[in-house]
Amino acid sequence: MAIVYIGIGSNLGDRRQNILTAMELLSEKVVPEKVSSIYETEPVGYDKQPLFLNLVCKVETELSPQLLLKQLKKIERGMGRKASFRNAPRVIDLDILFYDDIVMESNELTIPHPGLTERAFVLVPLEEIAPGLVHPAKKKMVKQLLLELNSRSGVIKYDGDGKVLHRRRNVSSIR
Ligand code: ADP
Ligand code: MG
Repeated sequence: MAIVYIGIGSNLGDRRQNILTAMELLSEKVVPEKVSSIYETEPVGYDKQPLFLNLVCKVETELSPQLLLKQLKKIERGMGRKASFRNAPRVIDLDILFYDDIVMESNELTIPHPGLTERAFVLVPLEEIAPGLVHPAKKKMVKQLLLELNSRSGVIKYDGDGKVLHRRRNVSSIR
């Protein structure tokens, strides 16, 4: 089984519920291992839009990177994400951050995710669940990448209704 880290974000509608729904749909396709806290984060790239909620989860899967991406896109479409401009507001965004230690680049899929090292909204939740994970191309640990980014600004832990968010192998417990 491959170990994959997936980033999930939402800044439209009931953001928290969107993330939980995506986690549930995802857990029909892959085996969830670990989930970060939810963070409220400032939009990057196009700032005239609502704040995001983001989290990162670690999963195990038999799906190839391409088939996994296909499933993620299916979940995005199924949840009503419309094709739009880059960095536009979105009901749900599912990104493959790492897939084992694969390094690949094609038109539709780049792994590790190319935005990863510049995005505090990815690195902060990632550091929470996998500080020692090594970026296979940069050969640096996540905690080091976050230190080098030198900014956690715009990324704040979101307590929502204050429920415990860390439970292994039981996604429904993050409700
Ligand atoms: P971003 O997530 O960077 O804000 P989008 O979600 O709009 O951007 O990007 C959409 C496209 O990015 C997808 O159609 C997909 O083919 C491509 N893509 C490339 N690499 C990845 C990856 N690692 N995970 C998810 N999508 C990716
Ligand atoms: Mg995406």
